[in-house]
Amino acid sequence: MIVDTLIAGATIVTMDAERRVITDGAVAILGDRIVAIGKRSDVAPVVDPDETIDGRRFVMTPGFINSHVHVTETLIKGFLPENLDFAEGVWRWVVPLYESHSAEEQCIAARLAALSMLRTGTTSFLEAGTIIAMDPVFEALNETGIRGRVGEWALDRAFSPDQDQAAMTDKALRLLENELSRYPGADGQRLAAWPLLIGHSTNTDELWRGAKQLADQYGAGVSAHMSPARSDPDWYLANTGKRPIEHLADIGVLGGNVSLTHMVHVDSDEVAILAETGTNVIHCPGAALKGGYGATAVGRFPEMAQAGVTLLLGTDGGDQADLMKSIALVAGLFKDARCDASLFPAHQALEMATVNGARALNMSDQIGSLAVGKKADLVLHDTDRPEWRPLLNVISQLVWSADGRGVHSVWVDGRRVVDNYRCTTIDEEKVYAEAQAAADSITSRSGLPRLSAWPVS
Ligand SMILES: [Zn+2]
Repeated sequence: MIVDTLIAGATIVTMDAERRVITDGAVAILGDRIVAIGKRSDVAPVVDPDETIDGRRFVMTPGFINSHVHVTETLIKGFLPENLDFAEGVWRWVVPLYESHSAEEQCIAARLAALSMLRTGTTSFLEAGTIIAMDPVFEALNETGIRGRVGEWALDRAFSPDQDQAAMTDKALRLLENELSRYPGADGQRLAAWPLLIGHSTNTDELWRGAKQLADQYGAGVSAHMSPARSDPDWYLANTGKRPIEHLADIGVLGGNVSLTHMVHVDSDEVAILAETGTNVIHCPGAALKGGYGATAVGRFPEMAQAGVTLLLGTDGGDQADLMKSIALVAGLFKDARCDASLFPAHQALEMATVNGARALNMSDQIGSLAVGKKADLVLHDTDRPEWRPLLNVISQLVWSADGRGVHSVWVDGRRVVDNYRCTTIDEEKVYAEAQAAADSITSRSGLPRLSAWPVS
């Protein structure tokens, strides 16, 4: 069999149905697909590769799936103070700063996000539905070679009486439908639009129903923020008489193609509804830690896992995009919080970032694991590094010892987008210079203070 590339000799964490780990393994790539995988001694003799890569130095995993990321918010990382309550952080800082980005600044942010993800082994992402300049950002992301589902900023709730509620909802619905027809994804496109909602209390029931209907119709999914703080359950109880998940169940918008982000302030009845409806939950441990959401104090993530809720992992805002750090966090947070070292074992944390993410993206047959016929989205982790030696238990060391800085090479759709620690699709130095200049401009024209606990001269 003629193939493009043979990677031979690697330790392969397949994440396939049997969760096989193959030592001295080999993978053959033809076009965008894996066409052979197994022991090197079985694969190498039956393929005729254009290029052979000596894989003995590497651990191979499927590309990771970041299920919640704001790709256009990377330019304000570090600028947001950490001692804000949720509402002040969002409404005084993040939203005004973000709305002041030009289209070109959003593109620079998106390139930086894609670079951060690819360089740390994330090959697919689900965006948070906060892109304003959709067309140029889509094009910028497309050039990077990353796989993703993205959404245009759509919130419709009229919070003041002089706003026309019906017109706002109608405009948001048309925006969602329009992006789906411009950027369809049902045929396995690498990059596509989904009807993604901001969530919290910003969307009317009518927009929720419309988004769910569009997702069903287009083979897409819905994602939204919910309950990182008590303000969401408080709002829903005051305005609907029900907690958020009870209300969303009442209006018929939950299901297997719906993924809700944060979900920290959730009660046991809501957990039962999530399990019953097959609704996915995206945990963003880094965001919870920095924002003081209470994930370990009041969160019910172990109970969700126990109830069979599909749990996913996201990095959320721009502070860091290395999903391997989130994998380590989820493997540790609840062990410590509950004094129970059996919670979220390393292999379960890895599933959240691979096969579970693929299921929520409706791409289980394409990504999330390494098997014949699947997309060639794969990562080589460099074991010639101190954190990888000695190599005795690859799953444990992937989660507890390694991080994204050890990612040596990455393929998406059979294309080598990271090679020897360098992104092949993005001019890294240019992005760093543009990001610094854009961030200096955005923050200085915002009028917000550049705060520091210590004097900076
Ligand atoms: Zn978010």
